[in-house]
Amino acid sequence: MAFESLAGRLQETMKKIRGKGKVSEADVKQMAREVRLALLEADVNFKVVKSFVSRIQERAVGQEVLKSLTPGQQVIKVVQEELANLMGGDQTKLNFALKPPTVILFVGLQGAGKTTSAAKLANFIRKANNKKPMMIAADVYRPAAIKQLQTLGGQLNIPVFTLGDKVSPVEIVRQGIEQAKAEHNDLILIDTAGRLHVDDVLMDELEQIKAVSHPDEIFLVVDAMTGQDAVNVASSFNDRLDLTGVIMTKLDGDTRGGAALSIRSVTGTPIKFVGMGEKMDAIEPFHPDRMASRILGMGDVLSLIEKAQATVDEEKAREMERKLRSVSFTLDDFLDQIGQVRKMGPLDDLLAMMPGANKFKGMKNMQIDEKKIDQVEAIIRSMTPMEKNDPDIINSSRRKRIALGSGTSIADVNRLLKQFKDMKKMMKQFMGKTKGKKRNNPFN
Ligand code: GDP
Repeated sequence: MAFESLAGRLQETMKKIRGKGKVSEADVKQMAREVRLALLEADVNFKVVKSFVSRIQERAVGQEVLKSLTPGQQVIKVVQEELANLMGGDQTKLNFALKPPTVILFVGLQGAGKTTSAAKLANFIRKANNKKPMMIAADVYRPAAIKQLQTLGGQLNIPVFTLGDKVSPVEIVRQGIEQAKAEHNDLILIDTAGRLHVDDVLMDELEQIKAVSHPDEIFLVVDAMTGQDAVNVASSFNDRLDLTGVIMTKLDGDTRGGAALSIRSVTGTPIKFVGMGEKMDAIEPFHPDRMASRILGMGDVLSLIEKAQATVDEEKAREMERKLRSVSFTLDDFLDQIGQVRKMGPLDDLLAMMPGANKFKGMKNMQIDEKKIDQVEAIIRSMTPMEKNDPDIINSSRRKRIALGSGTSIADVNRLLKQFKDMKKMMKQFMGKTKGKKRNNPFN
């Protein structure tokens, strides 16, 4: 999970202060010390840490906090707000051109994730804002970059403009924009070349591309895992190109969060999107306030709801509700539900969005075992339609066949059948209790 180690440290600290009936200045000092250490360990820029800690200390010892009825919670609120401010406060929206097409330029070092992010974002904006994107392959130096963009474009059904690798990137961009206009594409995403280090030749070329393309957004793509280096890279690119935003990739593997927490303060450039995986749908708009809540274990219900809305089929959800009410859902429905939830992303990430998930016993160190869920899917898939509809007919020879077919053991099959039976029994009791008490019915 993103920011796991930082989140763990900060949540320990917050736990100590949360339930306190009275909070003294000494308590606040102790908390501030621990927050400082946690941030430094997470590789947050030391100047950023210094001013952050003095701000929370100043606000937390303020009269209205320590004298309030719930001082512990008020202190945590201060930390949450300041963390959100550190990452940019409110979410920053995309700039769309008043007169289309909107042009987005992707710049950054090699391997940061430019090509991947250009395709992910083209797909994201097409869906979210109903645009007709075209991508321009202007990375003529990395041998496979053009092919890679074409492959991603093919998968997503988004056109890619290329003139091969023998024409100058500036010319490719100029002609690409002409073509996009002619074909009424109202969103253009330009993938440019990166280098291993920032160098002048690269910057000159990017300045020329900027001059011919008049971008509405210039996104620096940086790899979160490079920590403070990412911040230095951002400063150099910003000096030459006046960035409008940062796309921070590989947050899924970044347990520390140093770059994400420092980049806005040091460069003044907001993070607009974050990459959370290699798949094409693993990109999210960045909401500093929600991320701050996630880091402090306060959950992020809004993002969870948005994910559900984007992926869960409403018709199916209604049908499921009906089946649950009548306790007539089958193993097939169960399989369907697993599929719907899995579409939303890795279960670990979903769990991190649930408020208080960290408070459950053992949850903090629990890795959700996706393999176990694969197993459940395999077992159900190995059943015949009749068995799925009426698991009571599954006798011992059927159990043996199902275990063999799904590559599991008879004990695994037995466990699943028992769980399913218990679940149905529980639903029956629950529905019995809530019958007639409409107001208390959680499915309303
Ligand atoms: P470019 O050289 O900047 O164009 O980088 P690429 O787009 O080719 O990406 C480099 C590698 O990083 C590829 O293997 C991508 O799949 C991977 N990558 C990009 N974004 C993410 C992300 O958000 N999470 C993870 N885990 N991998 C990513």
